[in-house]
Order: sequence, then structure tokens, then C-alpha cells
Amino acid sequence: MDLHTVTSLRAARSRDDLRLAPGESVLGGGSWLFSEPQPELSGLVDLTTMGWAPWTIHGDGLSVAGTCTIAELLEPPVPTDWTAAPLFRECAEAFLMSFKIWNTATVGGNIALALPAGAMISLAAALDADAVIWRPDGTERRQLVTEVVLGVRHTTLQPGEVIRSIEVPAGSLRARTAFRKVALTPMGRSSAIVIGRLDDDGRLTLTVTAATPRPYVFRFGEPPTNDELQTLFASVHGWYEDPHGAADWRAAISLELAYDVCEELRA
Ligand SMILES: Cc1cc2nc3c(=O)[nH]c(=O)nc-3n(C[C@H](O)[C@H](O)[C@H](O)COP(=O)(O)OP(=O)(O)OC[C@H]3O[C@@H](n4cnc5c(N)ncnc54)[C@H](O)[C@@H]3O)c2cc1C
Repeated sequence: MDLHTVTSLRAARSRDDLRLAPGESVLGGGSWLFSEPQPELSGLVDLTTMGWAPWTIHGDGLSVAGTCTIAELLEPPVPTDWTAAPLFRECAEAFLMSFKIWNTATVGGNIALALPAGAMISLAAALDADAVIWRPDGTERRQLVTEVVLGVRHTTLQPGEVIRSIEVPAGSLRARTAFRKVALTPMGRSSAIVIGRLDDDGRLTLTVTAATPRPYVFRFGEPPTNDELQTLFASVHGWYEDPHGAADWRAAISLELAYDVCEELRA
């Protein structure tokens, strides 16, 4: 849609260009920014002209630029020991109407938007990825993506902060993962996503997203029993409720998904 209050568009080419004037906001793929009125905005600063490589494989893992599109995220040649690689496609396909926005939506935009169904939040949380965040004063900070997202449309990002990249550790990429998603319709917005990650040393990380306003990450020394899961999930307060699912249903279905995930990883 046209954004009637926006009167300027700047293409960012250097870090200096990312200093925002009052009323300006950074533009990723624009798939959300142009999907509803933004009356508080008067200018946009395009991040995609920064020329960041979409992804880089290095000794410590995978670096994904904030401007990497969902489609580009599926491009890296996968080293044979990256057993977690299928999770990238599973999360990409968890997007509502996946293929239509794959070529536009960015990883940074998805995390910054902080919707419960943020599929890149699910991916990054499950893999213990860090966000590298550029501050407007020229410094940067690093924070687990799980901790960046505080709630629905609520993050630790301060005005002018930009997600430069997501750093996925090599250890997580070499883990075994199991993914389960439920949506009310086959191509619908995710109602619950549960991802398990079994590391080389036998530790298991269970991540719940879409069913909760922010990611919940549970860590275990070994795969938990169903009774342990039941007790743990009963301690989660504030299951998310919207037209894609009632809170009590989301709690119940997430527990079922967690049983499944743990059974798969125990095998
Ligand atoms: C058909 C359709 C289906 C969708 N399905 C889903 C879905 O299933 N799940 C979901 O979560 N969302 C969904 N969305 C919403 C949105 O498209 C996605 O969240 C998308 O990933 C946002 O990324 P973007 O690059 O397009 O962000 P933009 O629209 O460009 O920006 C979104 C917000 O993030 C900020 N931002 C962008 N990049 C950065 C950055 N690098 N650092 C800091 N701030 C930044 C912008 O200023 C803006 O506030 C859907 C949208 C459409 C149109």
C-alpha cells in the first residue's frame, strides 16, 4: 500500500547513513512496512543497499546478514556435518504464504518485527543464535535472539538500532533437530512451533514459539520424560491468544508437539 505520510527514501550505503532523523525508520524487505498504514513515519532508510553479503560460512558457524532474504537463507552450500540444516527450510516454510514473501522479507526484519509467528525468531532461538546489533553511536552489541524478543512487537531494540547479522554457532549446526508446527489451515499462520535440538554432548534444548508471545527455551541434560514436560509446560504463563488459536488450545497442542519432538530425538 502507499504510505501517504512518507516523503523521503534514502538508500543507505555506509554506517553513517544509518543515523536516523526524527520520523525515519529502516526498511528491510518492506513486506510488513508496506502492508499497513504507518502514520508515525515520514521517511525510510533502505538497508538493502548496504551491500551486505547475505550469508557467510566461517569456522565458528554461519553469519546471516540482517538483510538476507528468506530465499537467500536457503542458498548456502551445506557442509556434510550440518545436521541441523533441514531446520532452515522447515522454518522458512512456516511463514504464512511462504513462497510469496520469501524473496522480499528479510531475516532482520522478521526478528525486529517480533510477531509470535516470526519464523526466523523460531529458527534463531532454536539454534541459540546471537543478534549483532549496530547502535546509532557507532558501537555494537550482541544478544541472544531469544532475549532480544520480549513480547508481541516488543524487543530490546532501541531507536536507531539495526540488526546487522545473526550469528549461528557451529555446534548448533552440527546438532540433531526435530521440528513440529501446527496451524489452523495448511498454509496458515503458525499457531505453535516446537523445535528440539540435541547437541553432540547429549544436552537437549526445546524451543516453543508462535504459541507464546516470546520464545520459551528449555534446556535439559538429557531428553525429558513426558511427565517432566507436563510439569514444565504447566509453569508457562501467558500462552498467546489470537484468531490463530485460543490460549488453552495452544498450551495443549504445544505439549503434544513437545512429546513428539522429544520422542524423535530420543530415538
Ligand atoms: C502475506 C504475508 C505473510 C506474512 N507471514 C508472516 C508470518 O508467518 N510470520 C511473521 O512473523 N510475519 C509474517 N509477515 C509479516 C512480515 O512480512 C515478516 O515478519 C517479514 O519477515 C518482515 O521482514 P521485512 O524485511 O519485510 O521487514 P520490513 O517490513 O522491512 O520491516 C519490519 C520492521 O522491522 C524493522 N527492520 C527491518 N529490518 C531491520 C533490521 N535489520 N534491524 C532493525 N530493524 C529492522 C523495520 O523498521 C520495521 O519496523 C507476513 C507478511 C505478509 C504480507
